Amino acid sequence: MSRSIIPELTTREVWFLVGSQGLYGEETLKQVAEQSRAVARALEVSSDIPVSIVWKPVLTDSSAIRRAILDANADDNVVGLIAWMHTFSPAKMWIAGLDALQKPLLHLHTQANVALPWADIDFDFMNLNQAAHGDREFGYIESRLNIPRTTVVGHVSDPAVTARIGSWTRAAAGRAAARSMKVARFGDNMRYVAVTEGDKTEAELRFGVQVNSWGVTELADAVAAASKEAIDELIAEYLESYDVAAELLPGAARHPSLRDGAAIEVGLRTFLEAGDFSAFTTNFEDLGTLKQLPGLAVQRLMADGYGFGAEGDWKTAVLVRTASVMGAGLPGGASLMEDYTYDLTPGSELILGAHMLEVSPSLTSAKPSLEIHPLGIGGKDDPVRLVFTADTGPAVVVALSDLRDRFRLVANVVENVGLPEPMPRLPVGRAVWKPAPDFRTSATAWLTAGAAHHTVMSTQLGIDVFRDFAAMSGVELLVIDADTTIEGFGREVRWNAAYWRLAQGI
Ligand code: MN
Repeated sequence: MSRSIIPELTTREVWFLVGSQGLYGEETLKQVAEQSRAVARALEVSSDIPVSIVWKPVLTDSSAIRRAILDANADDNVVGLIAWMHTFSPAKMWIAGLDALQKPLLHLHTQANVALPWADIDFDFMNLNQAAHGDREFGYIESRLNIPRTTVVGHVSDPAVTARIGSWTRAAAGRAAARSMKVARFGDNMRYVAVTEGDKTEAELRFGVQVNSWGVTELADAVAAASKEAIDELIAEYLESYDVAAELLPGAARHPSLRDGAAIEVGLRTFLEAGDFSAFTTNFEDLGTLKQLPGLAVQRLMADGYGFGAEGDWKTAVLVRTASVMGAGLPGGASLMEDYTYDLTPGSELILGAHMLEVSPSLTSAKPSLEIHPLGIGGKDDPVRLVFTADTGPAVVVALSDLRDRFRLVANVVENVGLPEPMPRLPVGRAVWKPAPDFRTSATAWLTAGAAHHTVMSTQLGIDVFRDFAAMSGVELLVIDADTTIEGFGREVRWNAAYWRLAQGI
């Protein structure tokens, strides 16, 4: 049975707003309506765009514009707005509406036709198809009001245009998910660790996430209350979904440990569902009466769309959940990841990422194996865990740090390459990758940015989605990709320090 909490993005709406004015007369406005409906329809049917695109009647005055935007603000199902000035829409009409805007905005700069009808063009055609200057008027007022937005230019028949709009709608869905996210922390952060700390009050204001703590005894109570039937049901699911090690099979010597792991999953799910949580953290230093470090349970919950951070790392839990929502329906997945150790062979450097146990099997299309092995940390029973290697292919790793006066996202474009050799003595979920643009530049930039050792790894999303998400959230993003140089990155970090202090005011 599916227990996924990854939303169907088709149920989310983006409203398509079209600007014009009364000056043109009824006949022209009818054409504006027809043509803009066709554009909205092209976006709605595009397989690049996962959300529902809802065309709204053409806006021709200030009060209608303000009303449309207030309605969008009030509707939880609306994750963002696309605006297009098909004709000239004098932009003072947009001031009240844009001033009230609380949803992400995409400015689509397009027109109904591709080629100009050079032989037939007359002034009526010019009047009808004048986004070239209508959208410039709109861009002016957006800039004057300092409205964060993504601008996309081109005809909707261009796949680059629909792909770009699709990425933005995914970011908008992630923004909406963050704004309704509740994170349950079992215990506090790992003792003495700096980067997993952060300002939870500021996070609620900036991202919308509610982050609160519960004693691990409450989780342990939920685990102790797991029924035999619920555990049996999960064991059956494990046997079907994974290659289960012989010693864990029903009747085998270590089967009781698998039942302990299943009880942890039952207890965790019960607690999270009862509190409407979509993300959580644990801390191996504070497991109370739990018999094992939650490994298998956490792995499976991440694959079902829950955010997770180890060692109390709620910031990474937020990123994992957000990335899961933004990647909904795409091949691949999102997981907690940790830069662990390197292969420094010159010219073919690799990063081996893993965690103690908690890496999501959404990163593999192969059947994971379910195994039990000792864990030298935490002083508990041997934990059950899924063992696999992330699929090869493009990915991004993204970290969130708290710099005292603001949050900073850092993203690195990477390529998962798979294991160069088998690692029979490291039975965990893991990924091996090559960072862009090269190992030395990537690691230098990462350290220069003060980015964390915990990340979300997404194998579903490109960097565009994170750029849009950062812009919508008003949060700094530093990108390390093929264009990054150590010198340029260092300058960007210094300039950003000044920019973000000024941008946030006193
Ligand atoms: Mn860790």
